[in-house]
Amino acid sequence: MKEDTIIALATPPGVGAISVLRISGPSSFILTDMLFRGNTKINDSPGYRIYYGDLVDSNENHIDDVLVSVFRAPNSYTGEDSVEISTHGNPLIAQKIIGEFLKLGKIRLAEPGEFTKRAFLNNKIDLSQAEAVADIIHARSEASLRGARNQLDGLLSKKVGKLRESLVNATSFVELELDFAEEDIEFVNTEELLKRIDEIIIEIDSLLETYNIGRVIRDGVNVALVGKPNVGKSSILNYFLKESRSIVSEIPGTTRDIIREEISIEGILFRLYDTAGLRDSDNPIEEEGIKRSREVLRNADIILFIEDTQQGIAQDLLEELMNISSGDKIIRVINKIDLVDKNNSDANVKISAKTGQGMNELLKILVQKAIGMEYYTEKTAIVTNLRHYSCLKKARESLLNARDSVIKKNSGEFISVDLRNASISLGEIIGEVTTDDILNNIFMKFCIGK
Ligand code: GDP
Ligand code: ZN
Repeated sequence: MKEDTIIALATPPGVGAISVLRISGPSSFILTDMLFRGNTKINDSPGYRIYYGDLVDSNENHIDDVLVSVFRAPNSYTGEDSVEISTHGNPLIAQKIIGEFLKLGKIRLAEPGEFTKRAFLNNKIDLSQAEAVADIIHARSEASLRGARNQLDGLLSKKVGKLRESLVNATSFVELELDFAEEDIEFVNTEELLKRIDEIIIEIDSLLETYNIGRVIRDGVNVALVGKPNVGKSSILNYFLKESRSIVSEIPGTTRDIIREEISIEGILFRLYDTAGLRDSDNPIEEEGIKRSREVLRNADIILFIEDTQQGIAQDLLEELMNISSGDKIIRVINKIDLVDKNNSDANVKISAKTGQGMNELLKILVQKAIGMEYYTEKTAIVTNLRHYSCLKKARESLLNARDSVIKKNSGEFISVDLRNASISLGEIIGEVTTDDILNNIFMKFCIGK
């Protein structure tokens, strides 16, 4: 499998200034030489060079003039011999060239993520870094880009690697003692072992805690706007968007369909949902809207509960809301304070969607709620990936079992098995322990050519 040579279009399959084809595998150079007409043979290149020439078909017909970048193993993305061919940016040219290569045999189309998979299999990057590559490509906000960058730089890998090291250390003491069991030699001091296990648990806990912010960074935040008709939900949404897309109307109940918009504040992606309201209704269309609103509320990370300063407190709606969702998700917003500014101490923030008063304050509260008060720097390892989160959870579980066995003075064998399991779970994060299933699952999600 590692022996064959693969080809794929690496750039989007549309019209652009250039298209780039990527070829990787042992026959990359020889195959390229069969179709490339330049001053030098690619196979003679020392690597890290770019060559200009013609790309021809099997009848020596000129297809396009191209640039060929040469990467010699192991100094390439995949760790194998590979070339990148830049053509004029017409997808027909790229398709034609790929077709000519396939005709040569000894080369096939790459599967999704196969280049990155090879990079992993050739130890150019570990598994969490390979996943970061996918995240970087799909990142939709600056914060999510930074998070993925952080992971690709290996911050998580290093941290997990260190934890595994201390685990292996602890395990070897326990197992050494097992080997000398008859002689009744004590290599492990129970106190010492407990202290070590606890230290690792604490480290894992602090990593697990970063998942909250990690998820926000990676996936963005769902924000639902809730309030009685006419309190100004659409106006607030529109203010955020700085362009009127949803209908702002004087007639209550016009927002029947859920309107969803995405905005970026301080680099974080916020998905805003304008809900139809929660009132019971006999109107089937409205009923559908209400059903959807409830769905949105259940999935919301943050709820903007909006009240109109003129209409006063919407206690009934607030109570209904509390039944669906937890109180700490709710930000209470009083709107239309340009009309009257009642002294309302229940509100978290008072605004006017009309004049913009208080809107900056609202944005600040949103960001704070999204990332919590937790702080992270570019140097902190953060968990942004559910798979990593689950592995850490499993490791924690095993460590708690080990801890239990130590306290109960169970046989060292139990302790050692649990410590080993914890180590395996950590190893799965960086791919030191892996299965075909895990790998296929991860690389399936990549695009072809990556
Ligand atoms: P929704 O039903 O909650 O979506 O409310 P809309 O956004 O459609 O607003 C209802 C009415 O209130 C419209 O006429 C808006 O122009 C008006 N409105 C919204 N926000 C404000 C505000 O801050 N001040 C004033 N004076 N009017 C507002
Ligand atoms: Zn509305």
